[in-house]
Parts: sequence; C-alpha cells; structure tokens
Amino acid sequence: MVRCEYCGRILHVNRSDKYLLCSKKCKQKFKNKIDISNTNKFVLNSVGKEWISVKNIVKSNKNKFEIVSSVSRLIYFEKKLIKKEKGEINLKTNVSIKKK
Ligand SMILES: [Zn+2]
Repeated sequence: MVRCEYCGRILHVNRSDKYLLCSKKCKQKFKNKIDISNTNKFVLNSVGKEWISVKNIVKSNKNKFEIVSSVSRLIYFEKKLIKKEKGEINLKTNVSIKKK
C-alpha cells in the first residue's frame, strides 16, 4: 500500500514526479521542512505513553490538517507513534508513543 508522503493517506493519484504526494496542498506543504519539523515536535510533545485521541492533540492547535498529517507520518513512516484502532487515522483515533 502506497501512502502520501505528506498526509499519510492512501495514495490514489500521484500529483508529484519526484515524491508520492496526493494533492497540490500536500505538494505545497511537503516543501516546508521547518513547518513539518515543528509540527512533528509539537505532536511528539503532546503524546505520552497513555492513549490520547488525535482530537485532543488538535484541540490546542488550529492547524488540524497539519497535525493529523504529522500523526500519520509518525505512525506510518517514522514509526514513533502507534495507534489503538484499526483503519485510517481520524480525529477519534487514539495514539501513544511507541515503547522501545
Ligand atoms: Zn497527501
């Protein structure tokens, strides 16, 4: 299964020649590595060993799309977070730090 490198959703149509990106929006946001790094840091600081819903991570930050995308990348690509539920990530998904 191939996923968008920005938002982590299943890729149906690739909008990039170089990377795997599902939309113009993701293509644009994928370029901003500083934003990506800052959002990842914010998410990792919000999540501990206890389950927390994606909704509760988003609550304190208005960049919902960026946060959900970061959670997806941290689960699917970087493997720093795990999710409790099966299926695609949404606001109800519970996540926690992957124990080493
Ligand atoms: Zn995408």
